[in-house]
Parts: sequence; C-alpha cells; structure tokens
Amino acid sequence: MAHRWHNGGVREACGVFGIYAPARSVAPLVFDGIFALQHRGQESAGIAVSDGETITVVKDMGLVTSVFDARNLSCLEGHLGIGHVRYSTTGPSTWHSAQPVYRSEGRAGFALGHNGNLSNVAMLESEAGMLPGVMSSDSDLIAELISQSFLAGEADAFEQALCSVLPRLEGAFSLTLMDERQLVAVRDPNGFRPLCLGRVAAGDGDGVGGWVVASESPALDIVAAEFVREIAPGEMVVIDEHGPRSVWPFPAERIDAHLCVFEFVYFARPDARLYGREVHSARHRMGEQLAKEIPVEADLVIGVPDSGVPAAEGFAAGSGIPFGQGLVKNRYIGRSFIAPTQADRVAAVRRKLNPLRETIAGRRLVVVDDSVVRGTTTRQIIRLLREAGAAEVHLRVSSPPFRWPCFYGIDTPVRDELLAAKMDLEAMTAHLGADSLGYLSLPGLLAAIAAPGTGFCSACLTGDYPTPVPQTGMAFAERT
Ligand code: SF4
Repeated sequence: MAHRWHNGGVREACGVFGIYAPARSVAPLVFDGIFALQHRGQESAGIAVSDGETITVVKDMGLVTSVFDARNLSCLEGHLGIGHVRYSTTGPSTWHSAQPVYRSEGRAGFALGHNGNLSNVAMLESEAGMLPGVMSSDSDLIAELISQSFLAGEADAFEQALCSVLPRLEGAFSLTLMDERQLVAVRDPNGFRPLCLGRVAAGDGDGVGGWVVASESPALDIVAAEFVREIAPGEMVVIDEHGPRSVWPFPAERIDAHLCVFEFVYFARPDARLYGREVHSARHRMGEQLAKEIPVEADLVIGVPDSGVPAAEGFAAGSGIPFGQGLVKNRYIGRSFIAPTQADRVAAVRRKLNPLRETIAGRRLVVVDDSVVRGTTTRQIIRLLREAGAAEVHLRVSSPPFRWPCFYGIDTPVRDELLAAKMDLEAMTAHLGADSLGYLSLPGLLAAIAAPGTGFCSACLTGDYPTPVPQTGMAFAERT
C-alpha cells in the first residue's frame, strides 16, 4: 500500500514490522514496532499474531495508540506477529483496506502487510481473470494471488505459493507475511522501500531470542533488537524455529537496487540507518551542499518544521549564516483538516505554522525546505514570513525539482499539478513570492547521502523509471 503527498509536500509512506520470538508474547512488541513507524502512515494500524495454530488480527482506522489498548492487545496471544501502519493511495480509506490483510483458504491462513505500490496491477488482474478494480487495493490483489496459488494446487506450502506469485509482481513491495508458524519478509528486486533484519535478545531468563524485520531500524531499537543487516533487493527471508533463511524468488537479471532517494530526503526517520548511513547526518550534508551550490547573502537561516530543519542547520554550517527558529509548528495538527478551497488551504497553513516575529522582522531569510510539489504550502509560508516583517525570503530546497509522477508507492499529483513540471525557475520564484529560489542538484544530493556503490531511484526527478510503468498521469492533462 502506498504513500501520499499532502499539503503540497512529500509525505507519508506505509510501515511494516514483523517478529518471531518463540518464548515471548509478541503483541506488545509489535505495538512498539509500529508505533516507531507511525510517521510512515497515520490512516490505519493493524496487528496479526499466531500462537502456532491460529492467526488473530486486530486492525482499525486511526493512529496506533487509538487503535490499540491493553484490552485488545491482551487478546492477541502468540509468539509470531506482523504489524502495519497505512497511508492509502489505491483503494478507499476504509476498515476493509486496513492491513494486515488476512486470508484463510482451505488449509492456508496467512496475513500480509505491504509497503509500496505495484505497477502492473492491470496485467495481474487480467491474468487472474479478475474484473479491473474488484480488489480493494494492490495489497489485496497480492493476497488474492497467493490464495489462488494455494487453491490452484500450484503449491502445498506457503513458501512455495510465494515463490510462484512474487516473480509476477512488478513495482515496489516491501512485504511482511506470516502463516501460522513462520514469518516471511520480502523486498522487491529493486528494493524501492527499505526493510531490515534484527535480532532480539532473550526475554527475562527464558534463554531464547528471536528475529525482527522492520521498514526502518528505529523500530528495531524500540524493541531492543540488534540491527543485523538490510534485507537485500530481491531477497525473501523465511524465519521459523530454525532461524532466518534466505530464498531468492526473482530472476537474477531483475535484481537492480533502486532505493527511493526520498527515503533519505524525507520519508525515513532521522535516526534510521539506510545503506549504512544515518539519515539525519545525510540531511545535514544536503543543506551544506545546497549552501555550496546556491549561496546567498542573508542574515538568518530557518527550516520549515520539521522536515526542513536538519538541512537548514546544514545550510547554516555550510554558509556561515546563523541558524534560528523562525516558525513554530503546532504539533497537535491531525489529519482532519481537509482543505478543498484556497481559503481553507491558507487557514490550514496558519493552523500549523506561526512565525516568530521578533526573530524574523527586518531580516534577510534563507528558508530551507525538503521539497516543493504543488507549491501551495510553500507559497503560504513565504506569505506568512513577509507578513511577519521578513526583509527578504530566499527559498532553498534540499532536493532537485520534482517533475514526474511516482509509481512506486508515493501518491503524486499528475504532471500538470507538479509546479516544477509546469514552470521554469524564474516563473516558480515569482509564483511562490520568493526573492530567490534554488534546488539541490541530483549529483549534490547523492554526494550528500554519501553511500557509494549503492543504487537509487530518482525517477520523479529525472523521468528515468527503473521498471516499465503505466502512462497514467505522465502527460499534461486537459483540464475542463
Ligand atoms: S519515483 Fe521518486 S518518490 Fe517514487 S520511488 Fe522513485 S525516487 Fe521515490
């Protein structure tokens, strides 16, 4: 299941977590794991556990802490479990599309959590003889194909069913799955979304440890698991009483690492480690690099909270211009503020951000943000800063211009809603109301991440997609 851009910026991704710990009751650990991944999806949350014989699932709309309490966690008894936090793009925002998806077909019960987006849904539906759109989401479609694989007698085991279905999937999928007795983690052959493996120590005096998989390493930290390694693109890790075992279901020629570069720019937690690099430090270096590439004379550097702040600190370090806090964020903003009209959008930004007038008045500001998508929020922020008395506002963006839609799990506008796809730099500067505008270059971004020998997807910046993609949303549409 996919991620969404909202309020004009790069926003959430889904989060997956799984644990196999024979001597533990894992539901509280799965709760902690998905709570650590809450930033990747706030729409729904769910946990599935197995005691070796029966799978039990609890899921609902809302934040992890509003879906789960001591009462329903105590009903989730088992030593094996998966959890999911969701932000939808395909399918409606309803209980039915909350995850984990659970299927029980004959002998085979299993649960599935998905982070990503399939790019060959139409082909898979037609191969499986389904009417288009019958499945409520691409995650549901994966579950259906696995179910059919069981029923069609293609396989007599969960692992074999997975090995027959997975090679048919294209696009982005970091999956956690479980049947009654084993935990499985899968990363697509491009590794668009992150997935890591950890080891959890024995509980008090029981002498038996366990294994954990998670979208990001902070979800390992929270359950006191030791980071072991990232799961490789194209790898399936099967965990049972014998420990983890790697299986390679995809043809070798499809394995080609393309981690989403926006995991480093925005999605992942600052304390996550991806490709062996700490995300916060990479964001700081993006700001330093930006100061080198697009310098400006100014009095103060501020970041757009929260995501622009590490790069703003980096810009200050790289330029020698002091860093300060110029905008205060209301941390209790939920997702309920729907902003269909321009007036609503202005109000939404005012609810969320308020300028510190004494800091700003009369100063020449560098304002650092991580991305500009539609430009709506950025425009409002610049207006707020000018109203608060800023003498100049120079916008610096710690990623390159976003010009192409994403088919790998980010809910992007169609091309004609992407500001940088419609306008050149001069027109964007005028539209946003900035005194100047500068973006980090792609080589600069990759240099700041500093993970040589690795592979990244940057298709939304370059239009160079690592896999075949549908043409939907690529053209500039005629608006009526
Ligand atoms: S197209 Fe952009 S947002 Fe989508 S996976 Fe690639 S880098 Fe990430």
